[in-house]
Amino acid sequence: MDRETLYWIERLVDGCKVLSWDGQGDLISGHVSCRAPAQSDRFYLKPSRFGLEEIDAAQLIEVNLEGEKVAGELGLHNEVFIHTEIYRVRPDVRCVVHTHAPHAVAFSSTGRPLLPIGHEGTLFADGLPVFSETTDGIVTRERGEKVAALLGEHRALLLQNHGLVTVGATVEEAVMTAVWLEKACRLQMIAYAMGGPTRWTDPAEAEIKRRRIYTPEAMRNAFAYCVRKVREAQARDR
Ligand SMILES: [Zn+2]
Repeated sequence: MDRETLYWIERLVDGCKVLSWDGQGDLISGHVSCRAPAQSDRFYLKPSRFGLEEIDAAQLIEVNLEGEKVAGELGLHNEVFIHTEIYRVRPDVRCVVHTHAPHAVAFSSTGRPLLPIGHEGTLFADGLPVFSETTDGIVTRERGEKVAALLGEHRALLLQNHGLVTVGATVEEAVMTAVWLEKACRLQMIAYAMGGPTRWTDPAEAEIKRRRIYTPEAMRNAFAYCVRKVREAQARDR
């Protein structure tokens, strides 16, 4: 395995732990993948039957774009088609996240659009599609194709009454987008609990904020912070 692939695998393992630290774990549900090396028709994926926080590099499985496991000992998530179908149509994407983040699930049940209430919401001000054809898992290639088509060029979507999907050119980008999407949903739910939001960032300012705040460097720095928090928590538990 080359050094670049090893680097991506390390980020993938850290990404799983960051999502768990953020409260996005749902027992053994949720999965993250990365495409390495670039343009590869294979990707590394978190295995089934383990929680996000339990994952280490040796457990990862390697999967092809048909959704077949080609390497690794552990099981394959039946929602593998979220990953295969996005990688097919988005050559720019090298990491895909799917979790059952609780606020994203609850927010998706309201049928309301996500508003830029805090900074985080501006990241999705250019659109946050909601997949509403089914609330069931994305367990067939056909469903995966539809999710990928709905995602289009966006960075995230909600699966109604199910969870979130985020993508990125890096693991840091996809994972932090999931963290910020979950927070944006949480903030809007808090505002609803207080009678509903009456003010939010206007579209022009949201665009400025998105470009200024959510740069690739900011995503790397925020991810590194989250990884430090994960390491601190692990050290306390020992
Ligand atoms: Zn799911």
